[in-house]
Amino acid sequence: MDKSTAISIFEKMDEEQIVKADKAVKQAMVYTAKVNGEQTQEITFVGIKHLILQLAVKDNPLEILESRCELQKDDPDDRSTWHWRAYKKFRNINTRLESDGRSECPFLDNGRYDAFAQRKADSKAERNAQRKQIPELVIKEFLKSVNSDQIQDVEKANVKKETQLCTCPPDRRIPSETIRPDGHLECRHCSCKISSLVSEEIIKNRGK
Ligand SMILES: [Zn+2]
Repeated sequence: MDKSTAISIFEKMDEEQIVKADKAVKQAMVYTAKVNGEQTQEITFVGIKHLILQLAVKDNPLEILESRCELQKDDPDDRSTWHWRAYKKFRNINTRLESDGRSECPFLDNGRYDAFAQRKADSKAERNAQRKQIPELVIKEFLKSVNSDQIQDVEKANVKKETQLCTCPPDRRIPSETIRPDGHLECRHCSCKISSLVSEEIIKNRGK
């Protein structure tokens, strides 16, 4: 795809959709993270889906050529060595451009069975393959169109998760099913940890 096609695709969707999109939608499409000490912006899974849809609308739909996701057991007796390994290959029906993506996800998450592991590996391989179908220029312009104050900061969210206590009223608090390594439950509403006292109480009540 040449640059002018890329730009025209972007302009249409930018003007009509992204600019008018509310904060939540933009937040879902872009995140920032520090890579090698440098603050960078990256497009999320949702953002890539959005751009792929825009391509399809402009007569550039993707067809899937290959899709695999296998559980590989490096040591059959040791589940911590098991991984879901996914591979996807797409082709742009119009330009014939082919791209592929791989991903893997451990079978266990912190020593426990992860019911979503297969889907995670699958989705990430799909994202990696589809991202290569979007011209870099389109991604750059897309990232530029989102103001920095509207972007979720992965790092800040993580710091919040690690240190701050949940102050949600009990009826708004959403305790996580899993227990954090530090023994606290996490609040799915505010992403903060729930105090030890309340965590213990919830865990105790679940045991009944
Ligand atoms: Zn909370």
